[in-house]
Amino acid sequence: MTRNHRLTRRSFLTEFTGGVTAVAIFGLAACFSDGDAASEAPSTSSGADDGATTTSSAEAQQSADAEQATTTVAEGSEAVTTGGLSWQRVNLGFVSAYVIARGSELAVVDTGSSGSEGEILNAVESLGGTWDDVNHVIATHSHGDHVGSIREVMTAASNSAGYAGADDMLRIAAPRDLVAVSDGDEVFGLQVISTPGHTPGSISVFDAGSGVLIAGDALNTPNGVVEGPNPDFSADLDFANVSVQKLAELNFETLLVGHGEPVETGAGAMVAALAESL
Ligand SMILES: [Zn+2]
Repeated sequence: MTRNHRLTRRSFLTEFTGGVTAVAIFGLAACFSDGDAASEAPSTSSGADDGATTTSSAEAQQSADAEQATTTVAEGSEAVTTGGLSWQRVNLGFVSAYVIARGSELAVVDTGSSGSEGEILNAVESLGGTWDDVNHVIATHSHGDHVGSIREVMTAASNSAGYAGADDMLRIAAPRDLVAVSDGDEVFGLQVISTPGHTPGSISVFDAGSGVLIAGDALNTPNGVVEGPNPDFSADLDFANVSVQKLAELNFETLLVGHGEPVETGAGAMVAALAESL
């Protein structure tokens, strides 16, 4: 379906929550809902595991065939380098966080549920860094399975600034004030794209140079199929669909999502097809 009216913060709040007070209430509900998403873990994580096996096997063949091509897979990890940007998925089971490297500087995008900081540190270290190299922590949205460890991550990464969409940031318990970001902002060379719908303040980040899009839950890839956000845990599917259409206009190859396997190539065409079907 197509929505022609322009997305604004005001129209979103008015249409979906009936006002700011309701947003706060809704936010709690959404966090608990997403926390409950753990109960979905059997189906989601079983798909993820299948995909991981496939990916790892494909990666093994790829690295055997062309170890030093534009895509490099680090031994024993999923670190991928393309177009000057390296990324590593932190596979936390039913949800993923990502660590991004540009030279020796690192950024963390989402922090998983609580207790995920150790696995995020493993990814930081496998990209050759320490917490001191993490200067940016980006929260795609306020759900607990994405910001559950932000306090620990930002405390350990004591140099880091934290970022989130304005309409989600007040529901994120960060140890320092977060910076509100939206369309037109850039963090760590990543273009911020406001993608409301899953939550009012959902954001995605896009690296034009490498063609990598990190969509949080604005897009998911359950069982390897690119879809919009899970309707059961989304605030407004109409807005979510408009956000999918917005993302489909970007030129990207790689899609990294909160739930499901990364799509390393051809993702832009898949999202364009999805947008066309809405
Ligand atoms: Zn979510």
